[in-house]
Amino acid sequence: MMKNLTLLIKPAAGLCNINCTYCFYKSASRARDNNIMSRETVDMLIRRIREYGASAVNILFQGGEPTLAGLDFFRCFTDRVRQNLSVPVSYGMQSNGILINNAWAEFFRENHFLLGVSLDGGRRTTDRYRLDKNSRSVLPQILNGISALRKSGVDFNILSVIDDKNAMDIENTWQYFKKHDFRFLQFIPLVDEGMGISLSADIYAFFLKRCFDLWYEDWKKGCYISVRHIDNYIRILMGEQPENCAMCGVCGSYFVLEANGDLFPCDFYCTEERRIGNIYDDDPFAQNEKQRSFISLSMIIHEHCRTCQWYALCRGGCLRDRSQNFTKNRYCDAYKTFFDHAAERMSQIAKQLVSEETFQH
Ligand code: SF4
Ligand code: SF4
Repeated sequence: MMKNLTLLIKPAAGLCNINCTYCFYKSASRARDNNIMSRETVDMLIRRIREYGASAVNILFQGGEPTLAGLDFFRCFTDRVRQNLSVPVSYGMQSNGILINNAWAEFFRENHFLLGVSLDGGRRTTDRYRLDKNSRSVLPQILNGISALRKSGVDFNILSVIDDKNAMDIENTWQYFKKHDFRFLQFIPLVDEGMGISLSADIYAFFLKRCFDLWYEDWKKGCYISVRHIDNYIRILMGEQPENCAMCGVCGSYFVLEANGDLFPCDFYCTEERRIGNIYDDDPFAQNEKQRSFISLSMIIHEHCRTCQWYALCRGGCLRDRSQNFTKNRYCDAYKTFFDHAAERMSQIAKQLVSEETFQH
């Protein structure tokens, strides 16, 4: 039986070299120690992967800012994996891009990393929330990091956070990304509300529609830009599985591994209550009661969804947006408005892609 293991590892815990206003992880990690993952913990992780009998492993490094663990940490990590695991291991990293230079980029190329670089948009949009600890812009450093990735031929995508203000900038952001030839985009709805930052369903609906129209205009001209949520909806309409757990209807079976070895079921649920174990426990990847209960939470289908014409496409959305008292998803109205606007066109594209695939076979 194939046993794939997906791990989201935080080697530098909650450490970060900038101070984004909307960072949800700052408060989540405040209570924990912020030490770099030890080599002993790396060895224990590799041992547990072997004992589990994984047939393939996907590792995504995240933070805080994972590059703060240092290039030597990553060289050591990948060397030990190479020496001790015989199954395929794929790597990714989500980074703010600031420390990425030629040495990092070469390392990523040699080890086939896929990078996700956080960049909300152009100057005005990125400087709105993504500033250093002295409130200075870090856009030039991010662009330098991206240049280093390009020079080494490392694949990367751009991660852009959407709140009410960034959503209203989508037109400029789209043109800015195109001008820089950023062709793989992921727009992430704001997680932590507060400090005057929020994302209302109305404005999210505006964003989803406008983003789709911009995407569609380019698509019609033969200029395909990958936007993760649109790609996934089209995949679903083609009868395929979405790759984004938030669009599957059920929470994914992956593990978040903190620098201290603690394991959690999801990046948005790194709380003591949801801790499912530690890498130093015996058999930590075997499904336990805590993980089962987390996944089963996402299986509760709200009554609004049961009768919704869009359920097959939407599947209720991410658990974090619908978990409070199991009221309907906070973006439900935005999704409905978006599907009314775009589902027909996405469906036509899906049909066209399926027939092209059939023709090619
Ligand atoms: S809460 Fe959302 S992000 Fe987390 S596993 Fe569930 S669907 Fe995925
Ligand atoms: S659009 Fe709303 S009601 Fe329909 S499936 Fe999505 S969250 Fe549920």
